[in-house]
This record gives sequence, structure tokens and C-alpha cells, in this order.
Amino acid sequence: MLSLSAMPRTLDPELRRALAARIRYYNEMGIYDFYRRPQSDRVGEIAATTVVDETEIAVSTSHPESEEEISSRKATAVAMPVAIQSDENIFDLIALKPEQSVSDPVKALKIIREDLGDCTRCVLHKQGRKQIVFGVGNPTAELMFVGEGPGADEDAQGEPFVGRAGQLLNNMIKAMGITREQVYIANIVKCRPPGNRTPEREECATCSPFLMRQIAVIKPKVIVALGAVAAKTLLAMSASMAQLRGRFYDFRPASVRSNDPNWDGCKLAVTYHPAFLLRDPRQKGEAWKDLQMVMKELGMKAPKSNS
Ligand code: SF4
Repeated sequence: MLSLSAMPRTLDPELRRALAARIRYYNEMGIYDFYRRPQSDRVGEIAATTVVDETEIAVSTSHPESEEEISSRKATAVAMPVAIQSDENIFDLIALKPEQSVSDPVKALKIIREDLGDCTRCVLHKQGRKQIVFGVGNPTAELMFVGEGPGADEDAQGEPFVGRAGQLLNNMIKAMGITREQVYIANIVKCRPPGNRTPEREECATCSPFLMRQIAVIKPKVIVALGAVAAKTLLAMSASMAQLRGRFYDFRPASVRSNDPNWDGCKLAVTYHPAFLLRDPRQKGEAWKDLQMVMKELGMKAPKSNS
């Protein structure tokens, strides 16, 4: 990751003002994440003038073509917080999201939902969605489940995991000795892909920054990624479920910081999507092993009937 301290501080004042105005303009459009595209002959070199050149800025709405590029983008993302108070510290301000000045997580999530608006950022908005499915649950949950995207039932009710797969997820949560209301549940994409197809990588990349912001507000101790799409998007890596399961990953939401200096990310575990478990119930035992690993991490004890 590029070091902010490496940023030159001798930017021409006029150029700096122009940059501030441009970033403010992007913020007003709901774009907060900026990435500097590395150039093959000068990766690692920071030239401030490149930031003001639109052709050199890849914002969060542009997407890589491969998993490798996702990793590369993540590694070179410049976290530049932007609530521009002074042109002098512009590079220290560029990624500040509007909810970060709010301490109440309910209000912070509301701000993110309002920022999402009647979203048309990816093609899923025009492919038959009835409504945006934002996420549901405890805004201070220690445990968060992240799935792939809404299905027909979720699209109809506006809540994630309410169909058959949702019932199974509820049972999995209950087996852990907790309730659905105690956790937070969301998806990588917030609109139903037509015919329940797998969301495209570009759709995941466009929608997931809002999920990252939700995670930074909720500050869970553990996230369980349900299925390969959720795991690959959150971890920005490509691997099989067999390779992804059975261990914890250190996770920090990409390009967003929590307003709590004591929260520096969380653990992430991967398990099967409940819809897959409905198709192949033989894997339920494996999923239970994943959840037991999570319970141990959180110091939870299963109810007697499961032990
Ligand atoms: S899936 Fe996400 S990014 Fe795409 S239109 Fe829906 S809310 Fe917007």
C-alpha cells in the first residue's frame, strides 16, 4: 500500500484547489473511493499531478478484469480521506465517508442507506429488481453473515435470507445458541440478479463498497462469508471452497475505516451457502464444523442438543 507520508507536500496551490473541487464533486455523486492506477514503469512512485488527471484516476466504479487485478488494486489503493476542510491536508482527508462522523450505528447505517438511494450504479437496477435489499439485524452485532445476493423471496420482502435458504440459515444460527436478531445479515449485491444467476464480478465490485461501509459501522468480531462469491469478493482472491474453508482470515473492509480507532478489522471465516446446503445436505456437517470454529473464536457454547 502506498504510504501517505510519501505524498509530496509541494503541490501547486491552484492545482491543490482544483483537486479539492474535483474530489468534492465526486463525493457529491456518492463516490468516495479513489485508486491510483499503477503504471508499469513507475509503480510505487507517487506523482501528485497524476491524481488530478481524470485519466489517471480509477474510482470505485471502474473494475478490474481479473482476480489478480482485484488484488493488485487493493494493494495499491491510496486511502485518501476527503472531507475537505483545508487544501493543505487534502491527502489525509480523501476517504472519509459521511457516516464516519456519526457515533450511533443506527444513524450511520441510515446514512449509508440514504447514500445508496434508488441505486442505478450497476445493471442489476434494470433487470427486474423490486427493491434494494440493504441488510438486516443488530447494528452492533459481533457476528455478521454475508451472502451472495437476494433471491425472489428477498426481493419481494426487502430482507436478506427470508426464503428456504434463509430458514436454513436461521436454523444454523439457532444451532449456535443465538438468534437471527443478534447477528447482522447482508449480501454482496443488494439487488436480485435475474433468474437467481450468480452476480457478475463487476456487479459485486460496484455494490460491495456499500457493504464495506456497513461492516465498518457494525464492527463485527467475526464475519462468515456464505459461499464462494461472498468469500472471493470480500477476500479479493480466487480459490476453491475447499481451499477457502477451515481457517480464519484477517479482514479489514477495503478503502474504508471505522470511526472507532480500537476496531482494526475482524476475523473472516468461509462456509457453504445455505442454498448449496439445501441442494447437498451431506455438506451440513462440514458447515457445522465451520460454525463451531466461529463459536470457539467468539467464546460461544452450543446449546446442549448440539454438543
Ligand atoms: S446491486 Fe448494488 S450497485 Fe447494483 S444497482 Fe443494486 S444497489 Fe446499486
